[in-house]
Parts: sequence; structure tokens; C-alpha cells
Amino acid sequence: MRAGALGWDRSRMRKYVIMGVQGSGKGTQCTLMRHDLELTHISVGDILRWHVQQHTKIGALVRRTMAAGELVGDDLVESIVRDRLAQHDWNYGFLIDGFPRNVRQAGFFLESYDIDGVIHLDLPDEEVQKRVLSRRLCAACGMDYNLISDRPEVEGKCDVCGGRLVTRDDDTPEALAARLRDYYGKTEPVLELFRRKEYVLTVDARPDPATVQKAIRAGLNLPAYAA
Ligand code: AMP
Repeated sequence: MRAGALGWDRSRMRKYVIMGVQGSGKGTQCTLMRHDLELTHISVGDILRWHVQQHTKIGALVRRTMAAGELVGDDLVESIVRDRLAQHDWNYGFLIDGFPRNVRQAGFFLESYDIDGVIHLDLPDEEVQKRVLSRRLCAACGMDYNLISDRPEVEGKCDVCGGRLVTRDDDTPEALAARLRDYYGKTEPVLELFRRKEYVLTVDARPDPATVQKAIRAGLNLPAYAA
């Protein structure tokens, strides 16, 4: 990491990108990071899923592509990111998850925003399959569960809101294979580009979420995580 990225100063705005293969725990780590650090979590996948659920025009455009595990067009994704960041509700900074996913998106992003660091969650392929295929999501509030490591108290029901737990349309073996292909073919080069700029903190994503969160905070010199 660059020396300038170190040290926690509440008055300074932070901008982080979180990257990692599907199932590496990006969403979970963002949740653990955002509250006390007051970072705004921006997940491009969540925004797109909202459009699909609400049957918007954008939802109709992306539904099939997403269900197949393929990447949505760059123009559309870039305009979503531009509009989301233009809301300026990120007074203390943001954590962007699921973007950039290819070199073109990275160019677009770096033209407009300087970043403090890239958190790379590293997970071996054999773990990815196991985690993704056991992932469940609350259809009502979006809370994530995992049938191996983070089971709901009552089977099929969200602990928080009682909503029904469903499988993401793109958490099938076929869609996962497509997403892994895109990750290694298109997203890994982005990581290389960020590495050359010395932005990247790579963290082992295999341990439990709290351990991973502690490693992220230690690596970025952020205030310690209190579970
Ligand atoms: P995620 O929740 O990040 O796994 O994203 C779910 C799906 O949304 C992906 O499989 C893509 O279809 C789409 N998506 C999310 N982010 C992007 C992006 N930056 N570029 C293109 N498609 C994206």
C-alpha cells in the first residue's frame, strides 16, 4: 500500500474498492466495515438486483444476463455507478463492491475518482464452489445466509425480518462457471493494474468473517474491529 493510504483520520474521506471472486465475502466484509467507519457501501450487483425485483426498464434489460452469470454492458454499469456516486451521500467515503470488473471500467473509474486502496479477498477455487452453492438470500430484506457457516435460526426464514430465503438466480453451477470465467479473464487484469499502482491489500478470505475483517483493518491501518 502507498504510505499516504495509512493512518486513520476521521476528517479525511476514504474511497475503497473491494474485489474478490464470487463467494469471497465481499458483501459480508462491507457490512462489517461500513457501520463504525461510516463508509457508504455501494454494491453494483445489489443495485442491479433491485432493478430486477422492481421490474424497472433497467431490470428488464439485465435480468437474463445476470441470471446467466454474465457481465452487464459497460455503458449501463458505468452510468449506474456515475449516478450512484453523484448522490454524494458518502460524507466519510465509500466502499465500492462489484466494480470495476474489467479494464475499461477501471479506466472509467480512475478517471473520475482517486482511491485509497483496493481490498482483495483471496479465496481458492475449491472453497468458492462450496460457498456459493450454499448461499441463500432473504427475498424481503436482502440479508445473506450460508447453509454451512451462517445458518438461519429457522430453516428457510430470515432471522431479521422473517422473509423467505431464496437462492440467487445466478448461484447455479452453470452461472458460477460463467462468472468464474469472467473473473479470471476480465477482473484479474484489473487487479494487476491496481497492483502496479500499489493500491492492493490481499487478504486470505478463508477464515471466519471477523478474522478477515481484522486483517483488512490491520492492513489498511484502520481502527480495530470490535465484534
Ligand atoms: P455481484 O452481486 O457483484 O456478484 O453481481 C451480480 C451480477 O451483476 C453479475 O454477475 C453481473 O451480471 C452484474 N454485475 C455486477 N457488477 C457488474 C459490473 N461491474 N459490470 C458488469 N456486470 C456487473
